[in-house]
Amino acid sequence: MRVLLNFSLALLFPLILCFGRVNTGNSKSSSNDTYLFPTDASHRINSGFADYRSSHFHGGMDISTNGKIGYQVFAAKSGYVYRVSVSPFGYGKMLILKHDDSTFTLYGHLSVFSEKIEEMVGAAQRQEHKYGVELRFKPDEIRVDRGEVVAYTGATGVGGPHLHFEVRDKNFAFIDPLVFGSLDVPDYRTPRIFNIAVRGFLSGEAKVCSMKKSGDSYSAKQIFRMSEPFYFVLHGADSYGGKFKRPPKYIRLKIDGNDFISLNLTHFDADDYLDVASLVDLGLSRRLKTYYILCVNRAIPFSVFTPDTPLSGLIGENFPNGTHSYEISIEDEDGNGASASGKFVLNLPRSSNSSSDATAGLSISPFKEKVFNLSPSLTLRFPENSFAKEIDIDARLLSQNSLEIESENEMLRKKVELTWRVNDPTLRLYRRLRRRWSYIECSNDGSFLRAKIGYRTGVFALLHDEMPPIVGKIRFSNKNPFYRSAAPKDFKRDFVYFKVSDRLSGVNTDNIFLKVGDEKLFCEYDSKKHSAVCQVDADKLRDERKVEIIVSDNAGNERRVVSRIRF
Ligand SMILES: [Zn+2]
Repeated sequence: MRVLLNFSLALLFPLILCFGRVNTGNSKSSSNDTYLFPTDASHRINSGFADYRSSHFHGGMDISTNGKIGYQVFAAKSGYVYRVSVSPFGYGKMLILKHDDSTFTLYGHLSVFSEKIEEMVGAAQRQEHKYGVELRFKPDEIRVDRGEVVAYTGATGVGGPHLHFEVRDKNFAFIDPLVFGSLDVPDYRTPRIFNIAVRGFLSGEAKVCSMKKSGDSYSAKQIFRMSEPFYFVLHGADSYGGKFKRPPKYIRLKIDGNDFISLNLTHFDADDYLDVASLVDLGLSRRLKTYYILCVNRAIPFSVFTPDTPLSGLIGENFPNGTHSYEISIEDEDGNGASASGKFVLNLPRSSNSSSDATAGLSISPFKEKVFNLSPSLTLRFPENSFAKEIDIDARLLSQNSLEIESENEMLRKKVELTWRVNDPTLRLYRRLRRRWSYIECSNDGSFLRAKIGYRTGVFALLHDEMPPIVGKIRFSNKNPFYRSAAPKDFKRDFVYFKVSDRLSGVNTDNIFLKVGDEKLFCEYDSKKHSAVCQVDADKLRDERKVEIIVSDNAGNERRVVSRIRF
């Protein structure tokens, strides 16, 4: 037990946990082929599937845990533990199950895993000598039954306490959990249409038209007059309670009464996760006001469109000049819907000998691999399809130690490989972010610095960091110092915690240690609180009276602090 406690990452629970079955309520336990709602914390959804975030789409739903940690997390179906990862960022502590029907479920921001998984995570951390680890399991190595407690909710990674839950199909594509009846949180609110816009394909200019509302029908206040090929852009949203900021799940555009293009936002391919520019009009969208592009203007189509061929949704030579009508309808997963209609006048200049090809002269080609040798010492490699279409890239050295990459504001779908010849092993790579430098994970063996850059381009530099991290006051607490717990009141755990920050390269979150006597414990870093937390044995701490903190930054500068503990 001692060894387990020493390396326990549990912020909240002992490793001896009671892994019972959840009582499935009105005895629906016979329905083994349906997904079980994954927690008893609540049925409130704070963020839904396909919500647009600045660099990606939300791949699941965030279930409220009432601002607390420590609620039970249930296996949604029977199967086995497929993958587990631990990080202070992103998903935090994360668990993926593979089910007997070959689908997957994912549970993120957990505080603690089930006992067996915790043991294996601890062993991997000791072996790799770092906090952040990823474990892959053999089929059926750890079996789980539907309803079994596999973990407890937490606040690890981004965001405060909540449970992030995903369903993936057998190709690992994202599926909206709400389309499964057993996971549905009923939505009685009708989605709304706020604005309809058109964007010229050649000029790139947008025209926005507001709508007149009459019940669940909307009509355009203006007529669009277009003299170039264009596509429609929709500002519409749904709500499960609260603000209208969820994506509508089904969008359909009809022109002159005929189906033209439709979108189904209840699923998307794993590769589309980052490809926000394929679906969101970044020029028109503002925070919580998302404009959806109703056109496939990419060489690699985003998987939600039907038809899904490049340039479908584009209105041009495929229509005669003159007045046309359009209707856009949207629907949520519970069948609540709204629709908007209006007219546009097309007036394309047409040459007499033009072909009847729908989009003559317009085409989009995929991005091929490109290698830039910016100097004899610096090489950038853009892999094939690292952008969703062929674009011009401008990459140039700004000085001997800095460079700029411009990509027409397109996001990278794959990472750029950078190789920089250096003669100083202490240099690291940084990205300029809002007037600050942000560390990029890289390796430097004194001859070459190598890094992978994603998912935005910009300004990068090689810099020195010679200052070790700063450690704040070291404190003791007999409960989790940062989050309220849903655990029973008689539950006690002891923690040592302290603030830790580093100005340039950032804290190396994999290597924050607390030494009590000759025992070296891993600390967990909370990226929101800029603090490290370590579960301790209070009796041992009282015997030793003092502890040593060992922290380092990403450039390898180390700081050691010895401190007495006050109880
Ligand atoms: Zn989430």
